[in-house]
Amino acid sequence: MVSRVIPVDAFDLVIFGGTGDLAKRKILPGLFRRFCDGQITTESRIIGAARADLTRENFQQLVSESIDEFSGISRVDEKLRKSFLEILSYVTVDAMGDSGWNDLKGLMREKAVRAFYFSVSPSLFGDLASRLKQFELTHSESRIVVEKPFGHDSKTAKALNAVLAEYFDESQIYRIDHYLGKETVQNLMAVRFGNMLFEPLWNSQYIDHIQITVAETVGVEGRGGYYDQSGAMRDMVQNHLMQLLCLIAMEPPARFEPDSVRDEKLKVIRALEPVDWHHVVRGQYGPTDTRPDYRTAVDNPRSTTESFVALKAHISNWRWAGTPFYLRTGKKLRAQSSEIAVVFKDTPHSIFDEDAGRHRNALIIRLQPNEGMTLDVTIKEPGPGGMRLMDVPLDMSFAETLGDNQVPDAYERLIMDVIRGNQTLFMRGDEVEAAWAWTDPIIYNWRARNDVPKPYDAGSAGPEDSLMLMHRDGRRWREIR
Ligand code: NAD
Repeated sequence: MVSRVIPVDAFDLVIFGGTGDLAKRKILPGLFRRFCDGQITTESRIIGAARADLTRENFQQLVSESIDEFSGISRVDEKLRKSFLEILSYVTVDAMGDSGWNDLKGLMREKAVRAFYFSVSPSLFGDLASRLKQFELTHSESRIVVEKPFGHDSKTAKALNAVLAEYFDESQIYRIDHYLGKETVQNLMAVRFGNMLFEPLWNSQYIDHIQITVAETVGVEGRGGYYDQSGAMRDMVQNHLMQLLCLIAMEPPARFEPDSVRDEKLKVIRALEPVDWHHVVRGQYGPTDTRPDYRTAVDNPRSTTESFVALKAHISNWRWAGTPFYLRTGKKLRAQSSEIAVVFKDTPHSIFDEDAGRHRNALIIRLQPNEGMTLDVTIKEPGPGGMRLMDVPLDMSFAETLGDNQVPDAYERLIMDVIRGNQTLFMRGDEVEAAWAWTDPIIYNWRARNDVPKPYDAGSAGPEDSLMLMHRDGRRWREIR
């Protein structure tokens, strides 16, 4: 089942930081895949712009290597590779100086959509925005794409929004949270608002609790310097987990349109109660036989930054009052696994003997691995041994049902949305600020109490206290596997 690919109009895309890690691993291989699918045509131009003094041929070589390494295509069609490399150019540009900007201007076309991808350190966002204006590189069909982290707290996020707003209208600013580009995450909206089945039950009357887990097996992997200044709360909860929470909890928007969707997400964030500090657990991973512990990995023997967070959140509105949301994320956990579990309440009365057992329905939305959904349904245990109940999963794996290779990488989808001018899957400025306003007090509280994260074994499910967070409420985390 192949969905139809409609080519986007010809565009000029400038990737500031075109030689960097993100460009090489995600952006450029993703663009190549869209090109192979016919969504990007040879009339478009992709311009790498970075500090390195490269020729166009050097850049083409770099992109060609990143296609081999990261596109996931086992046998690259050489004709397609050649014509993709033809649409590439490169300019040496200094975000903090005046060199290179006129060369860049010389490459831009009058009519095409212009997208400027800021794949550089956030400290350069303001410089890039101001120079784009100073050198008159933008027109009415120009957009900028900004990467995470968007600020370090409310204050810095507000400042960044203010700087960008000096030069660009909100409708031109695309703040990326690549979780929103994941197929399963978009599917959350399709499942909730495209089916009659779930929505009537989607509230605290029927749902006992919701668990959101984003577990990673990797450690800080060469990003130690950045990560140690950030931690799991800033790096994952404030953005990715918060976005998942919003999509699960929001009211149906009137239309599937950018501001309708984003208005509803914002209402969820604003309805979040401040988190009681007893309901937050922080952790830091220990060593394995072959890999160092967190503190060694970040080269900071006294670091109190968390590589794990679990917390219980409450949303104060009519739909969710009384249904807790448990969030957890961490590094060096047992498995690479992200899922949302919507756990329904018990039936109000059991007609069966106590021996039959009680089971709960749960809808599991798997983001990775094996993207898909499972609905746990209670049935009779087969056999003549009386009436005993058991859970069976109604299971759908997207890869099995829709065929492998169907699911484009999040970045591919999002970059195409930028070109099409669709902001639905991008965060609005007020959304980001509201998300920080909720996480800031948690982080400040840790600092005020000189909180030290609880150690946990690498390869485990996180610190013991995280299990207790659920046990105290008579609930259990789903296994990380
Ligand atoms: P990187 O250090 O690998 O690359 C930085 C790029 O910026 C290089 O191309 C460099 O030439 C360019 N650059 C630096 N100073 C410049 C200047 N003064 N003028 C012009 N160009 C300059 O960084 P990265 O890992 O690719 O990250 C880029 C952005 O993406 C950051 O905001 C980062 O937080 C974000 N991000 C990265 C990842 C990732 O996996 N790498 C994931 C999510 C978000």
